[in-house]
Formats: sequence, structure tokens, C-alpha cells
Amino acid sequence: MAKTKNTNARELIFGDLWEFDPAPETADPKFKTSYGLFIDGKFSPAASGKMFDTINPATEKKISEMALAGARDVDRAFKAADKAFHTTWSRMPGLERGKYIYRIARLLQDRAREFAVAETLNGGKPIREARDFDVPTAAAHFFYHAGWADKLAYVAPGRSVRPPGPVGQVIPWNFPLLMLAWKIAPALAAGNTVVIKPAETTSITALKLAEILQEADLPPGVVNIVTGAGETGAAVVNHPLAKKVAFTGSTDVGKIIMRSVAGTGKKLTLELGGKAANIIFDDAPLDQAVEGIVNGIFFNQGHVCCAGSRLLVQENIADVVLEKLKRRISVLRVGDPLDKNTDVGAINSREQLDKIKAMVQSGIDEGAEMHQPACKLPARGFFFRPTVFSKVSMSHRIAREEIFGPVLSVLTFRTVDEAIEKANNTAFGLSAGVWTDKGSRILKMSTELKAGVVWANTYNKFDPTSPFGGYKESGFGREGGRQGLLDYCELV
Ligand code: NDP
Repeated sequence: MAKTKNTNARELIFGDLWEFDPAPETADPKFKTSYGLFIDGKFSPAASGKMFDTINPATEKKISEMALAGARDVDRAFKAADKAFHTTWSRMPGLERGKYIYRIARLLQDRAREFAVAETLNGGKPIREARDFDVPTAAAHFFYHAGWADKLAYVAPGRSVRPPGPVGQVIPWNFPLLMLAWKIAPALAAGNTVVIKPAETTSITALKLAEILQEADLPPGVVNIVTGAGETGAAVVNHPLAKKVAFTGSTDVGKIIMRSVAGTGKKLTLELGGKAANIIFDDAPLDQAVEGIVNGIFFNQGHVCCAGSRLLVQENIADVVLEKLKRRISVLRVGDPLDKNTDVGAINSREQLDKIKAMVQSGIDEGAEMHQPACKLPARGFFFRPTVFSKVSMSHRIAREEIFGPVLSVLTFRTVDEAIEKANNTAFGLSAGVWTDKGSRILKMSTELKAGVVWANTYNKFDPTSPFGGYKESGFGREGGRQGLLDYCELV
């Protein structure tokens, strides 16, 4: 029978035909015009008196300025942390420590909207994500670890544990508040004190959290926050009073840190880059899988270490999936991060935007086929269209290197073994996704994929009770859960 086209079937087309009214979030982020370093419970200027600006990447306008910490300031911070460790924090009963951590969690919840707006303005992420993911998950990490503070006897059954001492921590710009919570909450629960350096471009929610620490009456010196760039981070990592170093960021800097910490006796955990495979089998629920693919790569503009940046699709459904994907990205709303309708916000910095553009150009030059929606981008600020590359081969740079932007590389496979082989054929091993109707296949894949986290029929799900971390060049050590807490303890 000849096929006739059903001309009555009307397709809903959004985009420019159905313009949304602006829906800006209006809570006041309560920024100060300038911030000092948070050392020994107080804000103070850097010894050098130097300051640097922090901007809104969606408008390129200055938001505030903050002190640039040098070696002398980092030294002052560690001395405060060491004193607090020996005189108060490590001696305090866990039950009491837990009360402070609960207090921090509750105060953060009280000011959740203010923090969400602050995070969006400084980092460029959509307010929907800051409001519904970053801030509540950060509070959840404090709540979860508060519960552990008086139960450390159960962290390593049959063994006793003790806190190693002041911890030096360095975090990146993609989840500024959440990474801060991932680092601070377990350290405090275990009885350690902290010197932490947020990323240069996104320090403001860390300094706002310092206000909460003051409000919670946390003893001075228990948490110290030093702002600055890579040199400040190096001073934190290399300080002799640091008994443990925890770093999240690029694999290149992770390697530098590993070399500098080697032989010092410091405990070390590294959470580095990724190039995750999101694997779709032909029996998967395809529309749900497409939502999972979109969430996997366009969440937080793709600035996610565990982003599903390589899509592996079974060959017989590749065309269908690509078509669905192209239609789906054509209705993603890219623009003002403060608008509640926005799906994809601003790229965090000009430097990162340039890096994404260079990687995308390499994809074009190497022969992959690029698909982008025709959406309008704001005239100012750092924005990039959601991008999908088909006809990608394993040797392309866009299939091998972390892009850390809204760019997806689509590859195909025929068999389960080929999917596993291709997924594991990477220097990284942080995360993976599997979409299939078969439970047995999920079990096989999750056993054979060399990734710290494997999501099945979902993607980008996080919970403080669940350990997160990588294999190979994605680093070592875990954050979250009992395993994450154990990384902040010494066995005795
Ligand atoms: P970096 O690894 O350079 O930055 C992470 C943190 O380390 C920042 O606070 C940074 O400071 C600090 N830092 C930089 N150099 C040193 C050093 N020598 N010693 C100690 N700390 C240091 O990442 P970038 O921000 O430069 O991003 C580059 C790439 O890294 C991205 O494109 C992405 O591919 C990857 N990345 C991966 C992340 C992950 O979660 N896995 C997170 C962020 C980036 P400052 O910001 O002030 O320079």
C-alpha cells in the first residue's frame, strides 16, 4: 500500500512563534561592593591590599570586588585553621559539631533564593538550576554530614578514626556553592578545619556562605576562605600545615598538585575531568532517553565534569535519535540566566567560551557534521548555542578531550561489547549512562564500564549519600556517602 503523508497532523512549533514573556527572578542577592578574605572568623584585607573584580558573565558587568590572597594570607589562614583544630574543633564532641553543621544547613535553606540569584549572577547558570539543584543540594550535603558528626565510630567498622588536621581545598567554577559544600561539610563532620580557595571567577557565594558561618557562630578559624587565582590555590595546596588536600578541577592542574604533594605525607583526593559515554540501546524509551541526553550535556551549559558529552547510539536507531535530538535542541531557550524560562545560560568566562569555540572548530575541521539551532543569542555576555556533532569518529578531538561546554559528540555502535569498548576507550573514567529496557544489560554494563558512576535510564542524579568520584585521569577518592567521609579521616 502506498504511504500517504498525513497533512492534517499539525506540529507544535515553539521558538519565535510562541514568545515567552520575560520571567526574571527578583530576589535580592545582597551583594557587597567588596569582600575581604575570611580568616579566623573575620573578613580582612589581603596583606598586599590587592583586589580583583568579579563579573556577571551574562552581561560582562562588574558585580563586586574581592581581596587577592597571597602566600602571607594563606599562611595566616592555615595558622588560624591549625589553632582552631587543636583548641576547639577536633576536641569538641561530635554531637556538638553536628549542631553547628545543622545550623549552617538551615541558614542556607532560609536564604536559598538569595543564594540562588547570587550563584546565577556570578556563574551564568540558569536560575532554575541554581534554585532547584545547586542550593538545595548544597544544603542537603550539610544536613547529611551533620548527621555523621556523632557517628564516626561507624565510618570504618572495627576501626577507630581521627581527623588528620587542617585541610587545604581548591574548587572550580562550575558548581561554586555545591563544590564548597561537598568539600567543607565532610571535613567539618570528621573534625577537620579548612582553608578553601574558590575559583577566581565565582567566589561570591563562598563569601556569602562565610556570612552564614558567622551567623551560625562557628568557632573562628574552623573555616577560612581565601580568594584569588591559581597561585593562591598553589599556596593552599603546598602549605606545610595542610594535612590533607582535596582538589576539584582540570586534569592538568590535578597532575601538578599530585606531583607537588608527592612525598609530603599529605592525604590527597582529586576529582578531575571526564568524557562520559551516554549509551542508548535500541530497546530504550527513546523520548525519555532524548530528555536524558539533553540533561546530560546541556545542564549547566555542559560545564559538568560528569557531563554525557559522548553519545553512543546503537546504529539502527541513530538516525531517529539524531532527528529527535535536533528537534529538541531547536526549542531550548538560550539567554538571560535569571529568567525562569531559560534552559541554557551563559558560559562562565570569555576564556572558557574561546576554548569551546576552538574545540568546535576542530570538530568542523576534522570532518564531523555540526547541528545548531537558529536561536538568537544576547548581544552581550558569553553565550554559545547548544551544539550536536554527528559523523564523529573516536579519533576526533571532540570525542577525546573534555570540552566543558554545551557540545555533544554522537558516535554509533552495533553490539554491547562494542559499546563497552568505545565507552572505556578514553583517558577518563568519571561517569556513564545506559539506556535500555533490559535489567541484565544494565548490570553487565555497570560492571564493565570503567566509570565511578553509572546511571541507568537517567542521568546527572546526585545525592549526598552516594559516593562520587573517578577512575584513571578522572582522579581518585570519593565525595559523598560513607566513602567520601572516610577520605577525611585517618584510620587508627
Ligand atoms: P583549573 O583546574 O585550572 O581550576 C580549578 C581550580 O584550581 C581553580 O580554583 C583554580 O584557580 C585552581 N588552580 C589553578 N591552578 C592551580 C595550581 N597550580 N594549584 C592549585 N590550584 C590551582 O580549571 P580551569 O578553571 O582553568 O578550567 C580549565 C578546564 O578544566 C575546563 O575547560 C574543564 O575542561 C576543566 N575543569 C574540570 C572541572 C571538573 O569538575 N572536573 C572543573 C573545572 C574545570 P582559578 O580559577 O582562580 O584559576
